[in-house]
Amino acid sequence: MEAIPDRVKVAVIGAGQAGLSVAYYLRRFELVADEDFVMLDRAPGPGGAWQHRWSSLRLGTAHKVNDLPGMGELGLSFETADRALPARDVVADYYGRFEDHYGLRVHRPIDVRHVENDGVDIRVGYRDLSPQPTEELKARGFFGRRRKTFEEAPPPPEPRGELRASFLVNATGTWGSPFVPYYPGMGDFRGRHLHTSDFVEAEDFRDLHVVVVGGGTSAIGFMLELEGVASALTWVSRRPIDWLDRQELDLEGASAAVSKQDEAARAGRALPSIVSGTGVPKNRRIVAGIDRGLLVAKPMFDRIEPDRVVWADGTSVRADAIIWATGFRPELRHLSPLKLREKAGGVTVGQGAAWQDPRVFLAGYGPQASTIGANRAGRMIARQIMAML
Ligand code: FAD
Repeated sequence: MEAIPDRVKVAVIGAGQAGLSVAYYLRRFELVADEDFVMLDRAPGPGGAWQHRWSSLRLGTAHKVNDLPGMGELGLSFETADRALPARDVVADYYGRFEDHYGLRVHRPIDVRHVENDGVDIRVGYRDLSPQPTEELKARGFFGRRRKTFEEAPPPPEPRGELRASFLVNATGTWGSPFVPYYPGMGDFRGRHLHTSDFVEAEDFRDLHVVVVGGGTSAIGFMLELEGVASALTWVSRRPIDWLDRQELDLEGASAAVSKQDEAARAGRALPSIVSGTGVPKNRRIVAGIDRGLLVAKPMFDRIEPDRVVWADGTSVRADAIIWATGFRPELRHLSPLKLREKAGGVTVGQGAAWQDPRVFLAGYGPQASTIGANRAGRMIARQIMAML
């Protein structure tokens, strides 16, 4: 991969659905030249957050996954993708082919640590996460192809860098910012706490007493997978499950939920939970799970003891592991020097643009936090950048 430029017109952080969609519109319609544009992503390969999801997750398990704009030109569609394959592999493969086809060169693994405004430009500070040569290899002279000794070898590449951009598109999603609510006694729990983002496979919970927390499709998916593997399973949700009589949820079709997200984003408030606005669709597997009594959520417990969870009335169940399927928050830590956050707890964003700084765009934020919303972000943000260039 070639060197990251020092100065560009547009820097895009994140190459998930939102970042790729913005890049597609900017590059495909030649709004910025190749050398005026850079994409940085912390992950090792294509796929956005999907590359990190657990192997048993399939496309369309509950929500519709929309194609990227321009994906049809490659003869690819998630609609017709093989649902026997892990979603993470399909998405990584399709995104990778999309990047190649449209010549979107993503620099990775590049972790953006801080973004600052120096009054003229936006300064993007990053760290290169590529494996650096180890001390041992350097000492043995393995570093550098033709040179034999460490003394003769060139210095290891500097993993930190900074670039300047006229416009910033932040498309960093939520996967890196898992949310776990606080409950008394959490710190004393002797079992295993994990969040959705840590889940690898059901087998890790064989013969354990597992408590799954959450009212969305991830929690339901874990319950179904753990049945027959865990020795006891308890499902709890902080609010009653709002079942929908529909098999699949088109997140864009859930217009009330999208409007709530939009209202909060425009008012600079913290974003509400998507699940609370959309309801949970029921496919045949879920209906069967409800009928056999597996998918019946208890109300939330009150506190956690070292080996159990306890409700307000004193009843309890043993817990060897607690899986927190309690959602994510937008990953915006690296933007904190820009001081975009409002007192109301969120960032004011309308049509993908940050109210506090017209050069900064948040793609995939709030009402755009679905694959269809991310596609819309691409067109909307590219148009605004075009108008200002
Ligand atoms: P992401 O896909 O998260 O991409 C963000 C990218 O930014 C990542 O590649 C990451 O490496 C990079 N990044 C983050 N921080 C940094 C940084 N500081 N520096 C450099 N790079 C960084 N939506 C649907 O429409 N349909 C579904 O079926 C669906 N299923 C879902 C299932 C789960 C379990 C979850 C958690 C979400 C699901 N979603 C679904 C919502 C989904 O997250 C979005 O649809 C979509 O993947 C979001 O795309 P994105 O580009 O905004 O973010």
